[in-house]
Amino acid sequence: DSAAEVLAAHVREVPDFPKPGVMFKDLTPLFREPEAFNTVLADIADRWAGKVDVVAGVEARGFILGAPLALRMGLGFVPIRKAGKLPGDTHTRSYDLEYGQATIEVTTDAFTAGHRVLLVDDVLATGGTAAAACELIECAGAEVVALEMLLELSFLNGRDKLPGRTVHATLVD
Ligand code: IMP
Repeated sequence: DSAAEVLAAHVREVPDFPKPGVMFKDLTPLFREPEAFNTVLADIADRWAGKVDVVAGVEARGFILGAPLALRMGLGFVPIRKAGKLPGDTHTRSYDLEYGQATIEVTTDAFTAGHRVLLVDDVLATGGTAAAACELIECAGAEVVALEMLLELSFLNGRDKLPGRTVHATLVD
């Protein structure tokens, strides 16, 4: 089966989470099935082999995806974290959520200058998180080669916040 088919078979839809009216896509069924998870990771790794130097992921589900992906590609992993979690000097970006704001950070020494970065996260929704993460990576002196999302919620138009960027989703909803 293709990565898209495998992923589609391992997404759980949860109505009214985290609030009424939202249909939450839960990817934990994928993470607990090693064969399925491996199929999805292999597809992403094949697409970017030799084209990136490092993988970055956003807290928290970007970590579940990014660390095993980086390791299988023979690359390092850089965590982009919620504010206040990383020690030492950091770059910081705040962005709007549906309700309120969020702030994410990366340490100033996280990237080697000019390194080509693959940014990963589980879901592309409104795109705010991904756009802020790209800015952080560039602020830290590295280049965002592409974004890989497991699932894109296309009705939220997240790509509008990522003009000119290469965005690939395993599955588009
Ligand atoms: P955005 O900034 O609106 O694109 O939201 C993206 C962030 O919210 C990602 O880090 C996702 O993990 C999370 N997210 C938004 N919607 C969902 C969902 O339906 N399922 C799982 N995560 C979601």
